[in-house]
Amino acid sequence: MNATHEVFNQPSPLVDTNLFGANRAMQSALAFNAPALDTAPLRALGAVVGSGEMQTHARLANVHTPQLKTHNRFGQRVDQVEFHPSYHALMTAATAAGLHGTAFSAEQQATGHAHQLRAAGFMLFTELEPSILCPISMSYAVAPALKDNPAIYKDWEAGLTSRAYDPQLKVWRDKAGLTMGMGMTEKQGGSDVRANTTRAEPAGSDAWGQRYSVTGHKWFFSAPMCDAFLILAQTTSGLSCLFLPRVLPDGSINQLFIQRLKDKLGNKANASSEVEFVGASAWLVGEEGRGIPQILAMGTMTRLDCALGTSGLMRQALGIALNHTAQRKAFGKTLIDQPLMKNVLADLALESEAATALALRLARSFDRASDPHEQVMNRLLTPVAKFWICKRGSHFAQEAMECLGGNGYVEEGGEGIMARIYREMPLNSIWEGAGNIMAIDLLRALRKADAAAALAQELEPSRNMHPALDRLAAQLPIRVEEMASEMEARRLAQDVALAVQAALLAQTAPAAVFSAFCDSRLDGQWGHSFGSLGAGADFDAILQRAMPT
Ligand SMILES: Cc1cc2nc3c(=O)[nH]c(=O)nc-3n(C[C@H](O)[C@H](O)[C@H](O)COP(=O)(O)OP(=O)(O)OC[C@H]3O[C@@H](n4cnc5c(N)ncnc54)[C@H](O)[C@@H]3O)c2cc1C
Repeated sequence: MNATHEVFNQPSPLVDTNLFGANRAMQSALAFNAPALDTAPLRALGAVVGSGEMQTHARLANVHTPQLKTHNRFGQRVDQVEFHPSYHALMTAATAAGLHGTAFSAEQQATGHAHQLRAAGFMLFTELEPSILCPISMSYAVAPALKDNPAIYKDWEAGLTSRAYDPQLKVWRDKAGLTMGMGMTEKQGGSDVRANTTRAEPAGSDAWGQRYSVTGHKWFFSAPMCDAFLILAQTTSGLSCLFLPRVLPDGSINQLFIQRLKDKLGNKANASSEVEFVGASAWLVGEEGRGIPQILAMGTMTRLDCALGTSGLMRQALGIALNHTAQRKAFGKTLIDQPLMKNVLADLALESEAATALALRLARSFDRASDPHEQVMNRLLTPVAKFWICKRGSHFAQEAMECLGGNGYVEEGGEGIMARIYREMPLNSIWEGAGNIMAIDLLRALRKADAAAALAQELEPSRNMHPALDRLAAQLPIRVEEMASEMEARRLAQDVALAVQAALLAQTAPAAVFSAFCDSRLDGQWGHSFGSLGAGADFDAILQRAMPT
């Protein structure tokens, strides 16, 4: 009892719901892209990640942040990161759900939709806690690149695909599960990794092939307690990709020294470090001097995860905003029934559904890698989805936060989930290639001969469904053929994203969602802030579809 007043008109939080069961946009996108997919595992995961128990783990892992222990009490270096038990609970749950390397197991690959199942699971897990998904994502993404050292992949495959989480610092063969990270960025350059100064000198060869001694540093090195890393270093042939384990095959600890952990805006549960290598042992992956394309095989997959992750965060923020406004009253009505709030929420719902549709469409291309059309779409849509979805994230989070008024801005010991989402949002846009780098990468992708034709084919099913989409669809292949200069690359990436999102919504979403999306994003019936949809939109239908329960 409060002594002075009764507490009322404060909404109950969104807890113990099935995050998959209520996500109609995700269900439609999966039914369209992977009709044979059995969604039972997602329904099971939706209940886990929506539970109050797991939400408590997410809060605790973000409040009790990782601590670096460089030395033990005897003055010996140990280079360990200590985590709260809730961090380990989250890692255990994500690994058990197969969100790291499991999609590459023979069993999962045989289904034909391993990447889409895992993509939807990853998106759902993001709604619980995104920062532990950094090592999960890297452990997923590493397989295509690591396979180019077949001897290492043979030894590590079982651990990378297993559903067991094993945080012990032990030699790979003694572990039930393995995780991996990546090290490219150095102080003098992250986008332009050609500036890397870390050196790798030949040091004989063994069962894993050519061995090197690595000396240098990495300025950003996330999840340094992973079992191994793909890194870039200069050899006599140029920048090369190397496999650097923390524990060497003979059981000794590799010469990797963690200097400090980054003090970050968000992403608090994840440890991101600065490291130095002092004659560390590493093995060549792929060809010497071809390090950038080699490690980009990993980067392509982590870029998919950036798009999935931001889509998940959008959905989480939208769900919280809808839950809050459906209960909170102001000026005699629940907020969700106030016309202008309806407009804000519906506009956010359109953005969230479009992000979900585009991210899961991109995931489909990873499952159909032998199909020539999917290959081109994979190359085009990876930078497009990473650029556009992640770019929209921060603006989206701010608006969703505002729906909660002052409560949205409050941390309250980690209970203010909106604040956590807001702090997390810019990250997916920066790492794995920031916005400009993605837009420039799209130009590179468009230089492929069949890019314009593939884009036209992708948009074809939505022809004659909305005049604004038809206009954009007619114009885009010409702009693609003419190949815009770098100066216009962001605009082109935006327009390709919007056209593909609209074409997908034409095929997966109700008419209310599709037409409001096209009217606003393609036909100019929109302002510069969320909440400026034209009055003709079917607000109730859009909101009903988006409700989180
Ligand atoms: C929390 C966190 C964790 C990270 N973890 C890792 C990790 O585990 N491993 C790892 O290797 N890296 C990691 N990174 C690094 C991240 O990938 C880089 O910060 C990012 O790639 C940008 O590189 P940079 O910081 O050197 O910025 P810069 O390369 O200096 O770029 C600065 C800005 O310039 C723009 N820019 C660059 N070149 C051009 C151009 N030609 N034209 C127009 N604009 C351009 C970029 O888009 C960017 O906006 C992490 C970063 C963060 C924030």
